[in-house]
Amino acid sequence: MTEPGRSEPGLPNPLAPLVSQGGADVRFSSYDVLVIGGGIAGLTAAVGAARRWNVGLITKGTLDQTTTFLAQGGIAAALGPYDSPELHLKDTLEAGVGLCDDEAVRVLVEEGPARVRDLERMGTKFDRRDGKLILGSEGAHSVPRVVHAGGDATGSVVAGALADAMSSGTRVQLHENEFVIDLLMDAGRCVGAISLDREGGLTVSLARAVVLACGGAGQVFARTTNPAVATGDGHAMAYRAGAVMRDMEFMQFHPTAFYGTENPTLLVTEALRGEGAYLRDDGGERFMVGSHPRAELAPRDVVVRHIKRVFERDGTDHVWLDARHLECDFLRERFPTVYTGLEKRGFDLCTQLIPVAPASHYFIGGVLTDTWGRTTIPGLYACGETANTGIHGANRLASNSLLEGLVFGERTVRDLERYLAVADPAVRKIRLNLAQEMREGNDPAVVAEGRTAVGRLMTDWCGIVRERAGLERVRVGLAAVRQSLAPPALTVAELELVNLLTVAEHIVESAAVREESRGVHLRSDYPERDDDHWRRHISIHRDPVTGGPIVQSSAGEVGS
Ligand SMILES: Cc1cc2nc3c(=O)[nH]c(=O)nc-3n(C[C@H](O)[C@H](O)[C@H](O)COP(=O)(O)OP(=O)(O)OC[C@H]3O[C@@H](n4cnc5c(N)ncnc54)[C@H](O)[C@@H]3O)c2cc1C
Repeated sequence: MTEPGRSEPGLPNPLAPLVSQGGADVRFSSYDVLVIGGGIAGLTAAVGAARRWNVGLITKGTLDQTTTFLAQGGIAAALGPYDSPELHLKDTLEAGVGLCDDEAVRVLVEEGPARVRDLERMGTKFDRRDGKLILGSEGAHSVPRVVHAGGDATGSVVAGALADAMSSGTRVQLHENEFVIDLLMDAGRCVGAISLDREGGLTVSLARAVVLACGGAGQVFARTTNPAVATGDGHAMAYRAGAVMRDMEFMQFHPTAFYGTENPTLLVTEALRGEGAYLRDDGGERFMVGSHPRAELAPRDVVVRHIKRVFERDGTDHVWLDARHLECDFLRERFPTVYTGLEKRGFDLCTQLIPVAPASHYFIGGVLTDTWGRTTIPGLYACGETANTGIHGANRLASNSLLEGLVFGERTVRDLERYLAVADPAVRKIRLNLAQEMREGNDPAVVAEGRTAVGRLMTDWCGIVRERAGLERVRVGLAAVRQSLAPPALTVAELELVNLLTVAEHIVESAAVREESRGVHLRSDYPERDDDHWRRHISIHRDPVTGGPIVQSSAGEVGS
């Protein structure tokens, strides 16, 4: 096996200058704190930071075009009478298959209940019965502990409450439909970002501290539950700035996305199985019964593995979710989003079997942070799905990610107090050094083809199951896509493709190094979990000399 350590060099240099001013207007603005991203993590950070500082918040879409807005199942927190942070800790560590950071998980589960109460104080109405919070069951939770709102509309309800809290003050300047291209660095510190507006103008936003909360990267794969904005921009720009990335091989696939060709595809929430829905194969068998003590409520990685086995055994590419035995009025009331979503696609949740298949869903890999949201770059914080705090290990426990955005978004604000007390009080003008050449960029058809190729390559050869020869094929394929592209012009589609390629390369390189199967990372050529060699993280950072990625593994900070 490959010795843990430096991987093969030779990936293309992702630092070829990403942006050329090329005649575009440049505006300047400055803030104490710049937040990039308007999902649960970014909004939490912005609302907290605005109590003390002037804050700029940039999102590439509108506030309702986030992953947060789509969240269905709810937020996990130890709020029930039979629950405790200790039990939540135990479940999270078990689901994480030996790779969670214990300290980070402890912070998550101990501070989580207070953050959910904060949301309630801001006006979020979680679903209650007889005045008590209704707690849902989801996979690998040993007790019901998932609060939800509007049935399965938790994300939009929570996002709405946070957006209201943000707009009730005057200290957050919100810029929607603005695409952040890159972070700005000065003397080793992050001092802002450069972004592209809809009219093609550039804005240089200088800031004393930057919070990166750009969400995930599900769009790297052809079938995903993630919205179009989830192209790994935060990951890629942090990497270009020199931050350390970690656990990039771990992409969680959700077992039950609606089977079809749409992008994104409709999620059929795990909470449905929590309420008693079954999974069946073509022959009607409940294949999870007898496969795991928790049957359909086994951890997500386990359910996905079994679905994959059914595909191989039966030569199929989907299985069936069966909720027909559940009460129809209950299904309509508890799962309005799923119910109407399926109705639009010609399916009746009450009376029909629903075809489902795994789709990329949650990116565990991210910008390495400590438990205060601090990255390896001074002045740069990361929280939410962009960050890698170590709470998910090799497999995320269901409904822990909204909680992560809340807990670590708030802790980021607390650390900003410390950082801004000692950081330069004034934002210095920095030397921009932007290239000035006029770039023709790439034909939109070539860019669209490139994006499709990345999705197909990653899905076919680096998806749920991986092995060496397949990973090599993706490497070659991704390099060909990269080589087919001229330096990007100032268009979102081109810049997104560069970011997708960067993240895809990181996933492939890390997946090639991890020669074992653990959590969401399955290697058919190394089918066993190998604690002796691989109970450790894999990290990637940019070589400042060659510009290429350095892949390393370390035994550090690996929990029990
Ligand atoms: C369908 C679905 C259902 C889910 N249900 C649940 C659930 O019930 N419970 C749970 O815990 N988790 C759930 N998850 C996961 C969870 O929703 C996400 O992990 C979480 O919402 C991520 O929040 P975030 O703030 O990190 O990112 P997001 O909510 O994705 O927000 C990212 C923000 O960054 C902005 N951005 C990105 N790139 C740029 C750029 N270049 N320039 C400017 N802005 C940029 C985007 O515009 C957006 O505003 C679900 C995920 C999906 C896809």
